[in-house]
Amino acid sequence: MEIHYQAYNLNNYRKIPQISHLSPEETEAIEVVGRILPFKTNNYVVNELIDWDNAVTDPIFTLNFPRREMLEKEHYLTVKKAWEKQLTRTEFMEVANRIRMELNPNPAGQEHNVPMLGKLRLKGIQHKYRETVLFFPAQGQTCHAYCSFCFRWPQFSGMTGLKFAMKETDLLLKYLKLHPKVTDILFTGGDPMTMSAATLSAYIEPLLQPEFGHIRTIRIGTKSLAYWPYRYLSDLDAEAILRLFDKVIASGKNLAFQAHFNHPVELSTDAVQRAIRRIRNTGVQIRTQSPLLRHINDRAELWAVMWRKQVDLNCIPYYMFIARDTGARHYFGLPLDKCWEIFRDAYSQVSGVCRTVRGPSMSDVPGKIQILGVTEIKGEKVFVLRFIQGRNPRWVDIPFFAEYNPQATWFDELKPAFGKDGFFFE
Ligand SMILES: *Cc1c(COP(=O)(O)O)cnc(C)c1O
Ligand code: SF4
Repeated sequence: MEIHYQAYNLNNYRKIPQISHLSPEETEAIEVVGRILPFKTNNYVVNELIDWDNAVTDPIFTLNFPRREMLEKEHYLTVKKAWEKQLTRTEFMEVANRIRMELNPNPAGQEHNVPMLGKLRLKGIQHKYRETVLFFPAQGQTCHAYCSFCFRWPQFSGMTGLKFAMKETDLLLKYLKLHPKVTDILFTGGDPMTMSAATLSAYIEPLLQPEFGHIRTIRIGTKSLAYWPYRYLSDLDAEAILRLFDKVIASGKNLAFQAHFNHPVELSTDAVQRAIRRIRNTGVQIRTQSPLLRHINDRAELWAVMWRKQVDLNCIPYYMFIARDTGARHYFGLPLDKCWEIFRDAYSQVSGVCRTVRGPSMSDVPGKIQILGVTEIKGEKVFVLRFIQGRNPRWVDIPFFAEYNPQATWFDELKPAFGKDGFFFE
C-alpha cells in the first residue's frame, strides 16, 4: 500500500474530516494563533497519531495544532481583531511581526555562532563547539509538520534575516577543509529529510572524498520518523535514501540520526517501527532527543516508557532538553527544579541501557548546561550544574553552583551561589 504525503496548513485544514468535532472556539484558535506561530500538519499525524476523541487534551494535537493559550491573552485579542478587520496583507503582517518580535524570535544568540570564511559570513553554518559543525541546507528548511513549541518558528514564518540557510555546498566544503578539528557535521533545519534523495546526496557525497577524512560522523537532525515515517517506506525515493545511507556506511564513516521524539505515541505505529528497522538495517545509528514540555510530556512515567520503547526499537536515548524561552514559552515551559525532578524520576525507573540519556539541559549562549541536581551546601540550597558542551572546551564537566530558585525557568534567571560575583566561566 502506498501512502502519499498530504500537508495541511491554514489554507486547507478545514478539509481534515475530524476538524468538525472541534468547538468553534478551538477552530478560531487555529485561525488566530496560526497566523503568528507556524502551522502545518499532515495526513499521517492526523490519521495515525492524534486521538481525536480526546483532541482537547491530546498531546499530539497540542504538538501540531495552535491553541488559544499559546498566545498571551492580549496578543490573541490583537490578532483576532486585526484578522476580523480584513486588513490588507501588508497591514496584517505589520501587526503579526510586531507580536512575533515580542516572542523573542532569536533566543540564546544563535547569530554569534555564524562563522567567517575570509570576509564572508557563512549564514548556513553554525560552529559553536570545536568538534561539531551545524549545517542548514537551504532546501531542508521546512518540516513534514511543525511543532507548536519550536524555537525555529521565525524561519518558517518568512521573517527575513533570521534564516540560516546556504545553497553553496562549496563554501561548506572549503570551511571544513580549513578546520581539521571538526569531526562531526550535523545537517539540521528545519528537517533535512524533507529534501529529496538527490539533493541530500549532493550535500553528503562530497564529504566521502579522502580530503574530508577528519569528518568521522555525519549526523542528520530529523523529526521525519515521528512525523512522516513513510519517507523510508513508500515515498518515491525511499529506496534511494536507504542506498545513500548504505554508501556512507560503506565509506567507513558513521552516519547517525538525531531523531526527535516528543511522546511515546510517536513510536507506536506500524509505520514508524518499520521505518526504524529499515534505517537500522543500513547501519545508521539513531539517537533520540526531545525537550521537556508542559502539556505534552511533563510526566516522568511517560519519559521512562519512551526511553524503554526507544531501546526496544534499537534507538539510543541521548538528550532531554529544557524548552527555550521563545514563542509559546509561557505555555510549554517548566521551572528548572521541576525539570530535574521529572528527569531524575524517569531515569531512576529505567535500566542502564536507557541511561545513555543526558539532561535536563539548556542550550544557552555559553554552552549546553545540564542540571545535575538540587542540594544543600553549608546551609545554602543550590543548583548543581555542569557544561555538557561549552563554547570553551575547557569548561566542560566542571561542576558549578547557582542559588536555588524555584521559579527560574532558564539559566539567565540564576545567580552564582555563595554570594559570588560571577560563574567560573564569566
Ligand atoms: C547540541 C549542539 C551540538 C551537538 O552537540 P553534541 O553534544 O555533540 O551532540 C552542536 N552544536 C550546537 C550549536 C548544539 O547546540
Ligand atoms: S520538526 Fe524540529 S525544526 Fe521542525 S518544527 Fe518540529 S522541532 Fe522545529
